[in-house]
Amino acid sequence: MRSAPWRPAVFIFAIACLGAGRTACGAPEPFPIVRQAGVDWIAMRAAAARFGLKQESTVKGRQVEWSGDGLRFRLQPGSREVAVNGLRLFLGQPVMNRGGEPYLSLADFDRRLLARMRPGLCRIPTPRVHVVAIDPGHGGKDHGAENRRLGLMEKTFTLAVSLQLKSLLDAAGFSVILTRDTDVDVPKATRAEIANLSGADVFVSVHFNSLEPDTRTTGVEVLTFPLQGQRPDASWSTGADDSEARASPVNRFDPWSAALAGALHRNLLQTLRSGDRGEKTEHLAVLRPLNCPGALVEPAFISNDEEARRLSTRAFQERIAAAIASGILDYAASVPVPNPPPQAPSTTPASPATAPL
Ligand SMILES: [Zn+2]
Repeated sequence: MRSAPWRPAVFIFAIACLGAGRTACGAPEPFPIVRQAGVDWIAMRAAAARFGLKQESTVKGRQVEWSGDGLRFRLQPGSREVAVNGLRLFLGQPVMNRGGEPYLSLADFDRRLLARMRPGLCRIPTPRVHVVAIDPGHGGKDHGAENRRLGLMEKTFTLAVSLQLKSLLDAAGFSVILTRDTDVDVPKATRAEIANLSGADVFVSVHFNSLEPDTRTTGVEVLTFPLQGQRPDASWSTGADDSEARASPVNRFDPWSAALAGALHRNLLQTLRSGDRGEKTEHLAVLRPLNCPGALVEPAFISNDEEARRLSTRAFQERIAAAIASGILDYAASVPVPNPPPQAPSTTPASPATAPL
């Protein structure tokens, strides 16, 4: 992944204003916000205080790490790549260097980082997880990625893993729906609509990666929908800015989609002990219309012959399904419990001993 060129002078002269602001995801106290080049920025020191990070140290080169209270956060000015507890994540804006101080875009801080690092601070509501929608990628005439050397198709493995995942989540007490349970093609937007009509509280799409003709690359990748106005990852490589000014339905749940992606990412890496290709963003049609948080996982590469052969085994499929199930369970456990509804006044006369004061 190639980051955007770093031009500090542009930022220094483009400062529009310096003010105080509030974040949508949990900061009760005002933050000093710098606005420049049309983007709001927050000093990493203020963000670190919000995350409860205290120790700051230079790791190597220009990389700086903050740690404390069970969290580690590493960044490098000029780069979009950060590490959250060792997991790679690509932000929507490169970290800005201003007067020797790193700054995060407020959107990245607020909608990509805060809920996954400190879910209790996020004030954007999200549903408790009762209904889980699992989306086995591709199907029917849409084979997905193919390994022609081995005669293997992505659609076979997405369905096999998803069926095993459904069994695990059923056993854990969730209500689980699949967007397909046979070898049929379902349009991408229809998959999201199936989830919406089922009242899904969370949506996970299962895919496998390919980089043909590169047959060597392996590793885990997790995708979410880009934040409103931010460029998706691929556009930083191609140079084409295809950010979208208008929000899509799934953008209402950005902080929780990021928390879901983080939980899936961590569990896939821990279980599969594979390479980390990071959390990225893409304008995915299957996520765009969702009425709940959603993420797409790419746990392995079908274009790598060794990984494709392992994918053909029941044991490897079960490990992937177990990792995704653990990620969903971790996410569900991280969602704050809403305050109990106010008690309706009693219609029966209370005795003096139990009457409310
Ligand atoms: Zn796919």
